[in-house]
Amino acid sequence: MDKWKRHTQVVRGIQGQINKLYTQKKAHAKLASLKYRTKESFTIRTKGYKSGCHNIYCGALDQIIDIDPNKQIAHVEPRVSMEALVKAALPYGLIPPVIPELKMITVGGAIMGMGAESASHQWGSFNDACSSFDLIRGDGTLIKATPTENADLFYGVPGSYGSLGALALAELALIPAKECVHLKYHVFSNAQQALEKLHTCTSQPNPPLFLDAIIFSKTLAVVMEGGVEDKKNVTHLPHYRAEKPMFYQHVKEIAITNHSQPYQEWMTHPDYFFRYDPGAFWMGAYVLHFPLSLRLVKEGLWRTSRPKAEAFNDEEIAQFHRLPETNHRPYTFLRPLLSGKNLCKLLHQAETWIQNRFVIQDFCIPEHNAAHFLTAVCEDPAIFPIWLLPAKGTATPQIFAPHLLPHGKSNGRVVNFGIYGVPSHASPIKEVTKRLEQLTTSNGGRKALYARSYYDPGEFWKIYCHPSYEALREKTLAKGIWHEITAKVLSE
Ligand SMILES: Cc1cc2nc3c(=O)[nH]c(=O)nc-3n(C[C@H](O)[C@H](O)[C@H](O)COP(=O)(O)OP(=O)(O)OC[C@H]3O[C@@H](n4cnc5c(N)ncnc54)[C@H](O)[C@@H]3O)c2cc1C
Repeated sequence: MDKWKRHTQVVRGIQGQINKLYTQKKAHAKLASLKYRTKESFTIRTKGYKSGCHNIYCGALDQIIDIDPNKQIAHVEPRVSMEALVKAALPYGLIPPVIPELKMITVGGAIMGMGAESASHQWGSFNDACSSFDLIRGDGTLIKATPTENADLFYGVPGSYGSLGALALAELALIPAKECVHLKYHVFSNAQQALEKLHTCTSQPNPPLFLDAIIFSKTLAVVMEGGVEDKKNVTHLPHYRAEKPMFYQHVKEIAITNHSQPYQEWMTHPDYFFRYDPGAFWMGAYVLHFPLSLRLVKEGLWRTSRPKAEAFNDEEIAQFHRLPETNHRPYTFLRPLLSGKNLCKLLHQAETWIQNRFVIQDFCIPEHNAAHFLTAVCEDPAIFPIWLLPAKGTATPQIFAPHLLPHGKSNGRVVNFGIYGVPSHASPIKEVTKRLEQLTTSNGGRKALYARSYYDPGEFWKIYCHPSYEALREKTLAKGIWHEITAKVLSE
């Protein structure tokens, strides 16, 4: 069947379900919840709000409808994964400008949640490369939002976590690819120097296409800059193949081996885009920490023994917060087990146990305060590695954008801090997270809301513009159909 016809049919089915709920709204006070394979979702906060909801199945919205190589745009349904999108665009010599680094992150999740990666310093978030959204309103009608048509909605939808309606389609820009990605690694013996290097790279007239950094400790950091390239120009360089269990350890090996600077190599496009997928950055290394994974299985998965406490104590932290070196040969065969997809499933299966012991959060800090934030997080929670990602800030009226620029600023950058792991001091994760939230706010930043957040509603609405959000809830007839955002993103 023609893909547009199929799309219309699937969307009509969903519209019908939502409309039915709308017309029965007064009789059934149940709210709606989108249903698909949620064990593959990278949204990792408790989903208690879902119980008792009316499920609207939207898993069939998983097709790339078309790719126009002349206009360099694609029409994509929300359940399409980043892996599928890259696979479909590459034969046209094109790539999406922003491709979140885990293969199974979906178009809908990147728009409604978070979607940043190493090209974000040029583009911003995944939604900043989109030119229109089709949204199903609370009464089942379809509404189009573009920068010129329903612009308030176009900018309100990103990061709204499905609280304004069901996304049915996105139009997104594509950019030219070449044959591979050429990467340069700059090693620093001081974490702050890595931040300065990111700033220098983004400030130059021709910044690299890709840019990110890993802070291994206060005294070891690596900045990685990359661009698309023809193979003939780089085949004299080493070729990184995605074979080792985890990319971050490859970077660490480069950092501690005395290579001439900068070390250079090349990768295929998919190997580059999804380099952090095996091991989900470095979360997989904890799974390879045998005593820790034994506890995870016994207490978190099978629950054959009760956890001694809600969080790790000092002695356990001393044992668990350092990651094992796992890029050696005996670990290689474990690579398929450590895919982002499998680790994500594990995360959902042992959710409470993991969430009480690990910080998994992203914070966007305005560039001028990033050095201060870095100094602070190197002391507390002192989780290493830290992922640094410069991102172009937005001055558009996006309500929930983590990379929103302060009022009155039309350009500038933020630095995203990815903090994933066990803190180095014993403290309940809720308290650690609250401290990080306060530090973020006091530095003029915002966090990504895919993980647990502990703001009270008053604090939350001081950060995000309530009147604009309420106006959009009215416009999309979301009230009484979809949960309000605070019900979805705030944890107790
Ligand atoms: C270990 C880890 C590493 C991460 N690394 C990165 C990273 O490198 N870069 C990055 O950008 N992000 C990263 N994230 C965050 C992740 O991108 C976001 O959580 C993202 O929203 C997840 O996308 P998903 O496809 O899994 O979406 P889901 O979890 O399925 O959905 C996200 C939200 O969008 C809503 N939604 C989904 N589809 C629709 C629809 N059709 N209509 C309306 N609402 C919808 C859902 O209800 C949900 O509230 C990471 C998360 C983790 C746990």
